[in-house]
Amino acid sequence: MEYKSQAPSGPTISPRIIIHGGAGNISPATVPPGKYALYREALLNIIGKTHTHMTTPSKATSPSPHLPSALETATYAVTLLEDNPLFNSGHGSVFTRDGINELEASVMVSRGFAKRGVGVTGLRRVRNPILLARAILEHGDADLSAMRRTDGPCLDVPSAQGHSLIHGRTAEILAERYQLPLVEPEYFFTQTRWDEHLRALKDERNGKALDATWSCDSYLPQGTVGAVALDADGIVCAATSTGGMTNKLTGRIGDTPMVGAGFWAEEWIDGRGFARDMWPDRTRRGHGPIVMLSESLKGLMADCLPTPFMYNPVPPGDGDASPLITTRSIAVSGTGNGDSFIRVAAARTASAIARYSGVSSTNAVHRVAGPGGELQKSAGNRWGITGEGQGGMIAIGCTVVGDPEGNAIAARGEIIEDFNSGGMFRAWIDEDGRAVARVFRDDVPVSDC
Ligand code: ASP
Repeated sequence: MEYKSQAPSGPTISPRIIIHGGAGNISPATVPPGKYALYREALLNIIGKTHTHMTTPSKATSPSPHLPSALETATYAVTLLEDNPLFNSGHGSVFTRDGINELEASVMVSRGFAKRGVGVTGLRRVRNPILLARAILEHGDADLSAMRRTDGPCLDVPSAQGHSLIHGRTAEILAERYQLPLVEPEYFFTQTRWDEHLRALKDERNGKALDATWSCDSYLPQGTVGAVALDADGIVCAATSTGGMTNKLTGRIGDTPMVGAGFWAEEWIDGRGFARDMWPDRTRRGHGPIVMLSESLKGLMADCLPTPFMYNPVPPGDGDASPLITTRSIAVSGTGNGDSFIRVAAARTASAIARYSGVSSTNAVHRVAGPGGELQKSAGNRWGITGEGQGGMIAIGCTVVGDPEGNAIAARGEIIEDFNSGGMFRAWIDEDGRAVARVFRDDVPVSDC
């Protein structure tokens, strides 16, 4: 549903942003105070810059400047994370077992582009993988119409075509075509990651670790970076980028580029309880996509909206009702043991729970990424031994109540973060506009700036 974000009669949809810099065996023992301070400072810096970017109207579109889209905001945040060697993506990517950097990224929007979601994988020379995922998404509409034409040069890689997941050399040819910066593989070398790579291989050889991708007594990145944004048009976007797991097999594809596993975004008209209980007559007659607020939805809105009373529906009379339309959306970016995320299609599972079980998005994410959730369950009795199932998610769930003309009359975005591991590097801007950064599970919830 397309909402007018600046409806004169109603509230605007306030843009929101949350970022993460990886989850895993992160605890005061594995991330000592000095390191903690470094991560916290970097997270606050990046969330602050992204907030400024998100709230500054773009001059490029003058004379009617607009705020950046969720896609622009989320990918902007991820480029900052990719450029910071503290995080396992872009410049700070981990090494494969063979000492190679193979990067992956993805982006997905709830509405607005034909492809909706794109993943890229096996990249060795693309400086900012997230920009490649974004470019393939943005070119998707044109690519799809070009496919219907028969003229034009016959190139090996004519465009990204209708594809949503593109690997290796083909992806890099597209990056060249989109004039994105390419770098020599050495750009991705950092001493810290190299030392982690060697140490983990040694621990595996010595029998100190089961394998060289996870250790229970140190924080071995894993790690991934991600951002989820909500824009003034009610569109949510998830952007995610990673070097993968330390000492993964060369050629291994993780959850980050895989649609539905490490990322997801979707929007739906909330039809739960579409008046079957409250307005049976109207349901039988069928009124297209128009949805009344049911009792269960009122409960959800009571959780989400500042003054739920104003949304109490008046049961419609015989034709003079002014029905409200409720649209919900969610975007999710994951981090953790990617093989487990793939096994449970984690990001889409969280979204599907929100969509089909009638629970809040916060609750849905918790059921997958929280302690005892689907990810943890998928590890079975290997939980805590192999690293399987460990991870976390950030998300934004948005609920918009609108009138049939498309004016938003109430809207709210929930910032969501949950994980089953010791910690997750994460930061967001709270409802009062303050930047908040957290690392461990029980970080004191005080405002940071
Ligand atoms: N999910 C990433 C992968 O498995 C790693 C991580 O986020 O920790 O490649």
